[in-house]
Amino acid sequence: MFHERGWIVKRTALSAGRTALINIHSGESWTYGELYNRIGRWVSFFREKGYVKGERVVVYSPNTIELFAVLFACERMGLIYVPLNWRLSLPELQGLLDDCGPIIVLFHKNFEQSVQLLNVHEVASLSIAEKFECARNIEPLPEVDCSDPWMIIYTGGTTGVPKGVVLSHEAVNWNALNTIASWGLSENDTTINYMPLFHTGGLNALSIPLLMAGGTVAIGHQFNPQEALEATNQYEATISLFVPTMYQMMIQTDYFKASNFPSMDTFLSGGAPCPETIYTAFQRKKIRFKEGYGMTEAGPNNFFIRPDDAAVKVGSVGKSMLFNDSKVLDLDGNACSRGEIGELFLKGPHMFTCYWNKPSETNDALHDGWLRTGDLAKIDEDGDTYIVGRKKDMIITGGENVYPQEVEQCLIAFDGIQEAAVIGKEDDIWGEKVVAFVSLYDENRGNEDMILTHCKKSLASYKIPKEIIIIPELPKTHVGKIDKNELLKWKQNR
Ligand code: ATP
Ligand code: MG
Repeated sequence: MFHERGWIVKRTALSAGRTALINIHSGESWTYGELYNRIGRWVSFFREKGYVKGERVVVYSPNTIELFAVLFACERMGLIYVPLNWRLSLPELQGLLDDCGPIIVLFHKNFEQSVQLLNVHEVASLSIAEKFECARNIEPLPEVDCSDPWMIIYTGGTTGVPKGVVLSHEAVNWNALNTIASWGLSENDTTINYMPLFHTGGLNALSIPLLMAGGTVAIGHQFNPQEALEATNQYEATISLFVPTMYQMMIQTDYFKASNFPSMDTFLSGGAPCPETIYTAFQRKKIRFKEGYGMTEAGPNNFFIRPDDAAVKVGSVGKSMLFNDSKVLDLDGNACSRGEIGELFLKGPHMFTCYWNKPSETNDALHDGWLRTGDLAKIDEDGDTYIVGRKKDMIITGGENVYPQEVEQCLIAFDGIQEAAVIGKEDDIWGEKVVAFVSLYDENRGNEDMILTHCKKSLASYKIPKEIIIIPELPKTHVGKIDKNELLKWKQNR
């Protein structure tokens, strides 16, 4: 049988001397040949341990290139790679460990103390592979099939406890193939990645596809806006992905204002709605900027937009990639007409297998191979898709639907506002009322009346926030998205 799982070995044969990975923090870098050698050491370690197909290997570590060696060794052995969010509290981590039941937890030296407080089968330092020789043969185990799991990635936890998303070899590889083919990645590309490697945005969106393409992945340890921009020029990056909150910080730096990033082909945003002000900052500098839509369960990559279209269709994620499909359905399950808002469904070979230990959530999400995303979208007359927001965030006020993202875009367009989040609060008269939380660049740059006057200029009256609450900083989830659950609790407790 043709084995789709051999690509890291073939890539090494093709590109052995080229740089695969860089740790931006320390400057350490690995060629594809060195990565292969490191994978082989982990294979030796796993073999000595006698681990068998399907066992879970947890990594508990900040971003570092060593994680890729573990990832590919798991791929060779049919082990399931499970990167955990090191920012979680110990009880939260324990919850995820109890959920995935790992055979071992590989920890970074920063977590030598805290890992001792976790109740797990076995732990070992991520440096242990140094003690092992590279296995002579790292061919994949024959009993491992493409449909077997390669990894479990926990979702962002924006709407509740993170769910373990099981991704097969096939799903990960199809996401990479789709991304290479649709976004046009090649071995001449370099990405700067500060997105966490425990999250789909850090691991699957660009890092794995770019390694498949033979490019270079430079890994940031911990996000710092200035450092990320400097690294972009230093390593002559061509394509990078950041979440909107990171862009918001980067465009404020003097470094951003002073540089034109000549090597850069495209800056990509994803993971959360992107304020238009960020598009504008890039357009002013004539630097390509695009928005993608991603989801742990599906790839994450699903859409692509040509650069010319991205420049005029601000906010659109474009069309489905070459090897997947999307559709937008109304409440009755009928296809929406052009411009009508409905729920987004996705289908393709990049789809997840199931939620780990959650059969009923899996059943709710998957229907005939289509994933019900829980997100709202609309498609314009050219067939381009716009993400409108999460279905559960939609506010119904006095019988009218309000999509928080539209109100947030309006708020962010106000000069002094740095961040904005809009939620619905129960109300005796309106059913729900629109409440806005904003943070300002500095307290002299706006007040509630000024913001309200600004909203009245562009929003229908029912969309205008009934309350505007100015706070120093909006709460974020562990992956840096605005935490609306916290805002709801905060509001209800007042
Ligand atoms: P959880 O599923 O645990 O609540 P999460 O949905 O945030 O967390 P992810 O899979 O990391 O976990 O994020 C996917 C979600 O991020 C999408 O379902 C969507 O709501 C949001 N998202 C991604 N890209 C965009 C975008 N371009 N615009 C708006 N929202 C986006
Ligand atoms: Mg989700």
